[in-house]
Amino acid sequence: MLKNILSPGECDTLSSLIDSSDNIVVCCHVNPDGDALGSCLGWAEFLRSRGKEPQIIIPDQYPDFLQWMPKTEMVIRYDKHKVEADELISCADLVFCLDFNQLSRTDAMAASLTDSHAPKVMFDHHLGPDIDCVLCVSRPEMSSTSEMVFRIVWQMDGFKMMTSRFAAPIYCGMMTDTGGFTYNSNSSETFFIISQLLTKGINKDKIYRNVYNNYSESRLRLIGYVLYKRLVVMPEQHASFFVLTRQDLCRFNFVKGDAEGLVNMPLQIKGMKLSISLREDTEKNNTIWVSLRSVDSFPCNKMAEMYFNGGGHLNASGGRLLCSIDEAVEITRDAILNFESTLK
Ligand code: 5GP
Repeated sequence: MLKNILSPGECDTLSSLIDSSDNIVVCCHVNPDGDALGSCLGWAEFLRSRGKEPQIIIPDQYPDFLQWMPKTEMVIRYDKHKVEADELISCADLVFCLDFNQLSRTDAMAASLTDSHAPKVMFDHHLGPDIDCVLCVSRPEMSSTSEMVFRIVWQMDGFKMMTSRFAAPIYCGMMTDTGGFTYNSNSSETFFIISQLLTKGINKDKIYRNVYNNYSESRLRLIGYVLYKRLVVMPEQHASFFVLTRQDLCRFNFVKGDAEGLVNMPLQIKGMKLSISLREDTEKNNTIWVSLRSVDSFPCNKMAEMYFNGGGHLNASGGRLLCSIDEAVEITRDAILNFESTLK
């Protein structure tokens, strides 16, 4: 049986907030991943079962390999429909913030969310929650925000009303945030949840293929190129990094999501503890997206905070540098060398 995630008081607060709200907005962080989008879609499905018509607003595009999820056609992109989205946010009487801990993680949407007078509810599994909320459910020990949504729905006795439209995005969010259940997923309760989701008729093998085996030929060639030409291994520090320049991305017809998972690959090298990817933005100059992955107890979130204007989890973090790719390489080398003693 699952342990409750909300206290009885929090459960009552959440229930009455939902019941008393007519204009509900559900949103997630910039560059939505499987967990961000999956948790929003799953939570919205639950809200619909409570007679609500929530609007899901996301800051920008999600990768194509998430397009198959049910009801993605209802999702509103802030970067494409700013006027409509601002109007929905300003009229909202309840805002759910899913899978992020600071409003700045929603990029251009942050101003609109800050101005909104609607009470906010946060469900998130990142460290350091920092949003002014009437209800802040922050559980860094959870595999994913999707797992949190499942548990909340379960506790609110809503799961029996749910169909595969809930189960599929929740499963996808859990799967992607645990690298296909290869990390952060050693709890028997995680597998109890999966067993319940399967009762709703989802096909987990197909979901895996939809997400992980649904790329273009160019993406595979990009990976080959990066590993051959761009990977820098620092064996003494048990660390490695690679750059993806705009030119590389253009050459291999990069589309959003093509770099997904690439940063994990250098960790396949024996003894490797840290892998960092530096990806130039395809449009904005001097904007480098940084991803960090580590094994064991190496705190990539600390490194992301100190060197890359970011944060995240112990073993998976991200950030952003506003500089040239050459400067980003220098910063990365410095970061690795300064963390040398922790890496050894
Ligand atoms: P990714 O490398 O997949 O973009 O991100 C890995 C993890 O770090 C995700 O959990 C993501 O939410 C988190 N993350 C990515 N960028 C940032 C950032 O700028 N700030 C914080 N606090 N977390 C981030």
